[in-house]
Amino acid sequence: MRTKTTLAPSPVRESVSFQEALELILDAAMPLGPVEKRWNEALGDVLAEDMVSSEPSPAFDQSSVDGYAVRAESVGAASADQPVTLAVIDEVAAGTVPQRALAPGTAIRVMTGAAIPSGADGVVPIEQANEQGPVTVAILAPAKSGDHIRRAGEDIRPGMRLLQAGTRLTPARLGLLALLGRTTVKVHRKPSVAILSTGNELADVGGPLSLGKVRNVNSAMLGALVSELGCPAADLGLVRDDLPAICSKLAAGLSHDVVITSGGVSVGRHDHMLEAMQHCGVELLFWRVRIKPGMPLVVGRSGRTLWFGLPGNPVSALVNFVQFVKPALLKMMGARSPLERVVVPAVLEQMIFKDDRKRHFHRVVVERGPDGFRARSSGRQGSHMMASLARANGLVAIPEESAGFPAGRVVDVELL
Ligand code: AMP
Ligand code: MG
Repeated sequence: MRTKTTLAPSPVRESVSFQEALELILDAAMPLGPVEKRWNEALGDVLAEDMVSSEPSPAFDQSSVDGYAVRAESVGAASADQPVTLAVIDEVAAGTVPQRALAPGTAIRVMTGAAIPSGADGVVPIEQANEQGPVTVAILAPAKSGDHIRRAGEDIRPGMRLLQAGTRLTPARLGLLALLGRTTVKVHRKPSVAILSTGNELADVGGPLSLGKVRNVNSAMLGALVSELGCPAADLGLVRDDLPAICSKLAAGLSHDVVITSGGVSVGRHDHMLEAMQHCGVELLFWRVRIKPGMPLVVGRSGRTLWFGLPGNPVSALVNFVQFVKPALLKMMGARSPLERVVVPAVLEQMIFKDDRKRHFHRVVVERGPDGFRARSSGRQGSHMMASLARANGLVAIPEESAGFPAGRVVDVELL
């Protein structure tokens, strides 16, 4: 009988730890070269250049309220009982240029965002003033120099480094680029990802299900995981457990930066993925990682393409994606911290345990309670069980040497 451990023509590292697997993967994943993109097409992309301002913001001294530009000293003693009456000599709306300078005993009506007229050093909000006809205003409260004025450059000075290369562009950061007048921006190219599902038993999602078949979950799920990162995903479809057929499908993967397959990476008689990858010239970095679910993962590299052979069970496929494929994609996208995860501390509502030395990933539902986050198991943890996977919004890692956690323990939950 054939055993997969003797299958590889070149020696393959086997049964690595979680940490070793991550290191091997991150060593192999390289940031992709920079491309120039229009700023409004760069949401989720990672900067390949520092963002340095060439202009101040605000660009000029401006009012932060609707009100009256004044000389502070002339209204220093104003109150509701003893208002100071000023002549209104001009009006400046946002976007218009002040036509007149402030003279003693006068005020200029200004709107939020309007340039401060010369001679003025403070603004009295409209709520603290009483218009007495179109050209006179009673000021009802004192003002100090600088009141309600946004100073030129108080937010951003020319030459300030505002965003570092390696920063992911969020809506707020795109807004910053717009503020700085950037129409294009240098970002890392996003990896293109090919996805292939393998298995004689797989049926198309829309089709009927005969005995022995299972609908193809992984193509949909992995495609969505890739799209969530904003990477282009190419669906290579389904292929039977047939070595030549798999090889010819995989050949299409070579034109992508990353190939993700599912199924056929174990030791069953119909598991051909390792052999198929090697036929495609893939150098296998390791096979099998001491985690659960998801142990039989195989990872390799050919030229600039990274290969991930995920196990077929959907939960295993997802956990492997989240733990290994995602950091690799983030690193290729140029992210400075590809291992950064969104983690919340939560009180476990029930014990979770294990009895082996693998790293486990327990699916949980985490919710905010009156005293902070609480986490409970999302249900049965079989690696084929989609109901508890779909219910879960987090993973709790139980480290290799740990036997688990008691109820009441505060654990880190990685949000899904
Ligand atoms: P394998 O990794 O090929 O041994 O498959 C392990 C289990 O996952 C089997 O029960 C398969 O039927 C199932 N499986 C494999 N691929 C998929 C898929 N694309 N969608 C749903 N289940 C799958
Ligand atoms: Mg299979």
